[in-house]
Amino acid sequence: MARRRLPLHRICSICILSLFSSRQPIRLRQNSMLKIEIDNGSGFCFGVTTAIKKAEEELAAGSQLYCLGDIVHNGMECERLRQMGLITINHEQMRQLHHVKVLLRAHGEPPETYELAKRNDIEIIDATCPVVLQLQRRIKRQYEQSLAPTSSTQEEKTSDENPSISSKPKGTAQIVIFGKPGHAEVLGLVGQTANRAIVVAHFEDVSKLDFTRDIYLYSQTTKNLGEFHRIIEYIQQHISPSATFMSFDTICRQVANRMPNICNFAARHDLVLFVCGHKSSNGKVLFGECRRVNSNSYQIESAAEIDAKWLKGVKTIGICGATSTPKWLMEECRDYIIAHSNIDTNTSDDE
Ligand code: SF4
Repeated sequence: MARRRLPLHRICSICILSLFSSRQPIRLRQNSMLKIEIDNGSGFCFGVTTAIKKAEEELAAGSQLYCLGDIVHNGMECERLRQMGLITINHEQMRQLHHVKVLLRAHGEPPETYELAKRNDIEIIDATCPVVLQLQRRIKRQYEQSLAPTSSTQEEKTSDENPSISSKPKGTAQIVIFGKPGHAEVLGLVGQTANRAIVVAHFEDVSKLDFTRDIYLYSQTTKNLGEFHRIIEYIQQHISPSATFMSFDTICRQVANRMPNICNFAARHDLVLFVCGHKSSNGKVLFGECRRVNSNSYQIESAAEIDAKWLKGVKTIGICGATSTPKWLMEECRDYIIAHSNIDTNTSDDE
């Protein structure tokens, strides 16, 4: 019977008869069947998608465009945009620029960056994710209500979030951010408080807080929800009766909602390839979940890192990624496996 050749893009769940080593194809038992599946729920979140779209639009219009920091924690996608003309700069380099366009990525920036742009007549293309922007505003409000030097009009205001705040003396409260110290989003959040917010990186660090003073707890958008709740419980157990404790769940559901999905996905495959830049915060969280349910999970930045040893004896491979992982990169990993294998194109999709 004549064999039907399927296009590569249809092979997401195709059976193949042999696997490869990075150099030589490996012939497996004739009845070995391999299924490769790309997780539909993985890939860019809307914040990253919007930032990249904005960059592409500016570049397509012929603008010279700078981006403050990597537009996404994915080297391959950054390289694709670099080839389109995007120039990535750091804060020091931005200080030297005048009369140019600078894109602010989804992580957001502290107020000082906007002030610098104003001083240097830099046009800001603001791609701060709306979720992050809203969090920045909440923290800024909290800072103004509980820490910032008081103006007479502010004294008359009562916080929606905490009606009791106006009756407390200012300056003693602790605004706490559960997040990764030094992460761009966290710097942007801390910047809303004139750098007075306390950053708690892990549950273990929470004991350094002063439980006799008010605590207002927020979270970086990409942190682990379970750990955030452990921190809340700990503070609730230790806070002094005379102090106020309020927590605000500011974890982005674009990440949190992926957890159960990615766990199910990882659990149903023999091998999981988690495609993600090593700098991605949500990548760390999501990969941690994959590893927790399937110890045969590996984080890779690109197809070139796939080790043929991982593929021996597996029947199903799941390819997934973080909110910073482009779909095309996951497809490239799938196609790389297929291209280095002896594919039986006579088989049909099994889903
Ligand atoms: S993970 Fe959420 S908060 Fe972060 S950029 Fe994406 S949509 Fe925005």
